[in-house]
Amino acid sequence: MSKGSKASAEKIDLAKSLKYNGAHSAPWKNKASKSDEHIPIVYPEAILCVEIYERRHGSVKNQEFLVLGSQLLTDLKDNIYCSTNKLMELNKLHNHSGFFLIEDTFYNDTRHYSAVDYSKPIVDWLDNSSDEVAEKWDAISSGVLKKRQKDLLKGLNISNVPEFKSADMQSTYFSDLHFRLGAGYLYCHQGNCKHTFVIRDMRLIHPEDTQNQAEYPLMTFHMQRRFQKCSVCQIYLATKMTVDDKWAPNNPCYFCKQCYYLLHYKEDDSLLYHHTVYDYFQE
Ligand SMILES: [Zn+2]
Ligand SMILES: [Zn+2]
Repeated sequence: MSKGSKASAEKIDLAKSLKYNGAHSAPWKNKASKSDEHIPIVYPEAILCVEIYERRHGSVKNQEFLVLGSQLLTDLKDNIYCSTNKLMELNKLHNHSGFFLIEDTFYNDTRHYSAVDYSKPIVDWLDNSSDEVAEKWDAISSGVLKKRQKDLLKGLNISNVPEFKSADMQSTYFSDLHFRLGAGYLYCHQGNCKHTFVIRDMRLIHPEDTQNQAEYPLMTFHMQRRFQKCSVCQIYLATKMTVDDKWAPNNPCYFCKQCYYLLHYKEDDSLLYHHTVYDYFQE
């Protein structure tokens, strides 16, 4: 058992014991029991520990899940939190498409009628521009293949570029996957929002694990976010951000709605001075 999953098992035990003590108002209670439904585990069952990383700060882990081998890849996708989803929803640009790239296969989410196969242009490019692809692949993997091996492949006229293919995310189970523990794979959604994810650990389910399928994917870690407060009142959350604002103390400067209008508009709603402002969205 890995450290992470042991910690999570302990967390769940703690949650259970506190629950039985009648601590119904505990804020994490919903986390401990995601669903009232009980679906028994079918043995033997495997548990995978999957880590999802931040889109911008690729080395920062955002979430960690325990997923069952009998679950679909879409079960994981539906539980991944990314602020881009919220931002796109707010702007009515939400897109249901997305893929996981695991080894040489793109697993596309094509459940929604409007979903697009994001991997198609990539696979087409791989098929149609083999020389360029081989050159790029060579540059990426130059540390992997030794010169002698390369010469050998060249002589035989065999490409060392893997044969990439695509499949449906919604019909692929984790137990169907060919993967390497600890390897960085790619999750791409909302056009071009990319996250690295890693399958860190794999083991059989233990008696101490939650024995209810409905509770999985079980989130065992979620990075705490710090909210951006208004730089003026330091009380309310920021909803506006100004850039190169000549009267602001910081650049960029964050404001709540009240402070922003108070400091940038006159009482008759006319502008006090010219400035650049954006709506600020809390991640
Ligand atoms: Zn994202
Ligand atoms: Zn304020």
